[in-house]
Amino acid sequence: MSERVVIVGGGVAGVSTAGALRAGGFDGDLTLVDAGEFPYDRPPLSKDFLAGTQDIKQIALKPQQWYDDQRVRLMNRTTVSALRPADGAVELVDGALLPADRVVLATGGGAARPPIPGAHSDRVHVLRTAKDADRLREALGSGARVLVVGAGLIGAEAASTAVRLGCEVVLADPVAVPLAAAIGAELADWLHGLHHRAGITTLHTGVDGFTDRPGGIEARFTDAGEPAAEPQVFDAVLLGVGMVPRTEIAQSAGLRVEGGIVVDERQLTSHPAVLAVGDPARTRRDGVLLPRTEHWEAAQHDGARAAATLLGTTPPPATAPWFWTDRHDRHVEAVGHMASAELTVVRGSYDDPAFAVFGLRDGHVVAAASVDDPMAVRAARRMIDRQVAVRAGPLADPSVNLRSLLRG
Ligand SMILES: Cc1cc2nc3c(=O)[nH]c(=O)nc-3n(C[C@H](O)[C@H](O)[C@H](O)COP(=O)(O)OP(=O)(O)OC[C@H]3O[C@@H](n4cnc5c(N)ncnc54)[C@H](O)[C@@H]3O)c2cc1C
Repeated sequence: MSERVVIVGGGVAGVSTAGALRAGGFDGDLTLVDAGEFPYDRPPLSKDFLAGTQDIKQIALKPQQWYDDQRVRLMNRTTVSALRPADGAVELVDGALLPADRVVLATGGGAARPPIPGAHSDRVHVLRTAKDADRLREALGSGARVLVVGAGLIGAEAASTAVRLGCEVVLADPVAVPLAAAIGAELADWLHGLHHRAGITTLHTGVDGFTDRPGGIEARFTDAGEPAAEPQVFDAVLLGVGMVPRTEIAQSAGLRVEGGIVVDERQLTSHPAVLAVGDPARTRRDGVLLPRTEHWEAAQHDGARAAATLLGTTPPPATAPWFWTDRHDRHVEAVGHMASAELTVVRGSYDDPAFAVFGLRDGHVVAAASVDDPMAVRAARRMIDRQVAVRAGPLADPSVNLRSLLRG
């Protein structure tokens, strides 16, 4: 067993790796290096933290005492600039070498900034860090006109928070029904419709460019929209158009990087002393590169798997992918791969306060998504993991207890 493990990155993936290592009995030196102020959680950045109802201390991943108790040497505000596996070390930006027998890369990613002309303006924001959220919150005063570009998870949540803060919000996306692949077209359409009902103007268009004007920023839209949107002036713009995995140090160390740091199912990279977890990791399974997951729980599970690999124990079994999103006071959860479903059934109705959609294939649940009904998704996850045979009729009937269907 290695004596010195260095984890690069203090997001949920890095902190979970540290916790799982100690829980699994790792007794060696454990160092967590993070470029930020201290390890905090990101999902609140588009929700309560952006709204100002949670502060930075409340979104800490762990209290300081936890690092002391777990004997994790936490190096905040410190950046790893290079991997030196041949020297058994990582190099810090000041040139210092930190001894490391094994390294776990948990470097996350940065907000994507597509090369849209004028996007360098101070009025154009992204949302990945607490500082980004602080800066954006300042721009979201009541009555501010805000353009959110991208209606995926982060854009939709930030738009919802902005409207809650009293802003006038326009949400633009060239995709007609965002999230359709993840939760199914019908539910995605319903969810997108919530924006309109909350007073947000949704535009089916991309953005071509920005120009700073006195007192605002003008956005020009691509002509893909129907009808084509006229240029408009906003107080602020948020680009919520995705994430770019942070792979530089992996790449310069010669590790295999293809749209992410390539790992096997044990989180091992192409170098045996280096593992990768969380948003930047991309799993290769049976010779096929899977898409990056970019969700909170997946990052946490990666940490548990990496710890098992380092400890030489059996990794926890893989479970169906899961994520949640909150918008307009509705809580959405999704599990599995809805795009692979050949049939969807609604349990309840879209008018109910809570309902769920199940995706079926060959008589088995392959995915589910719920609105304010997390228990339905929890049951669906068990059905997927246990490959339980189910019929559409009982699934769709809210009077049938889902637990009774778990027996198959
Ligand atoms: C605004 C927002 C809202 C979200 N909402 C949801 C949600 O509702 N549901 C959901 O499932 N997921 C959500 N996510 C996604 C989820 O938060 C991410 O999948 C998760 O944070 C990934 O964790 P990570 O540890 O891989 O990376 P990160 O959280 O990005 O952490 C990486 C850390 O590594 C540090 N680092 C990078 N390079 C270096 C280096 N060279 N040296 C030292 N430190 C370094 C960074 O400073 C950072 O602290 C959201 C993400 C964002 C940004």
